[in-house]
Amino acid sequence: MKSSLVIGNWKSNGSLSGNRVLLDAVASGVPAGVRCAVCVPYPYLAQVGEILEDSAIAFGSQDVSEYGYGAYTGEVNAEMLAEFGCRFVIVGHSERRSLFDESDETVARKAGAVLDANMVPVVCVGETLAQRDAGEVHSVLQQQLDALDTVRGASRLAGLVVAYEPVWAIGTGRTPTPEQVQDALGFVRAWFAARIDDADAVDVLYGGSVKAGNAAELFALPDSDGGLIGGASLVADEFVAICAAAV
Ligand code: 13P
Repeated sequence: MKSSLVIGNWKSNGSLSGNRVLLDAVASGVPAGVRCAVCVPYPYLAQVGEILEDSAIAFGSQDVSEYGYGAYTGEVNAEMLAEFGCRFVIVGHSERRSLFDESDETVARKAGAVLDANMVPVVCVGETLAQRDAGEVHSVLQQQLDALDTVRGASRLAGLVVAYEPVWAIGTGRTPTPEQVQDALGFVRAWFAARIDDADAVDVLYGGSVKAGNAAELFALPDSDGGLIGGASLVADEFVAICAAAV
């Protein structure tokens, strides 16, 4: 059986001095038997790469340009991230979809750029509360996932990580019931099973108010391969405890 994957998403947080303290504690505390990574703001990639150099913890970024090199002021492309040692790149986080108007197609093109640079896209999907209340969870997930297939073609989808993050559970302290999480994770798994031979090789994560206290129950769900952790990834003890719950 493959080990669970736990990825911390620092969002727009960190400092040169704080990062070192946090990562030293995380690197020494995360148990063997769990795959662990942190996705950090761009300016910290070099520092984080250096701190984690001799550890088993991988790192990555929280976004990427859909474009390559050239006249794209302000953009950071996938080749640059690969050069800095990134393994994972989060794409389509709901904060980017809602605050920066990223469409499903944009997200899919970013995932493609990440794959082309031999890194792993962590594609975030999930519904708003209004969509859940309207019974649209499956159709929202279907539409977000279908864009990947349309833009990228099914044959390249095996290397993906998908994080199911219901928008209403992010940073709110609210989590769906385990049954609701499993229903969504199972839907994502089935979507892949219909398109690629080895759908179990896709890591399907849950994200949204995961804490040490609820992690074990969420990670034990049949279609869970781990979690994408926001606020709790900034607190060393909490993040280490979440990783321990994934073993
Ligand atoms: P919280 O864990 O803070 O709810 O954030 C989840 C998230 O957005 C991870 O990408």
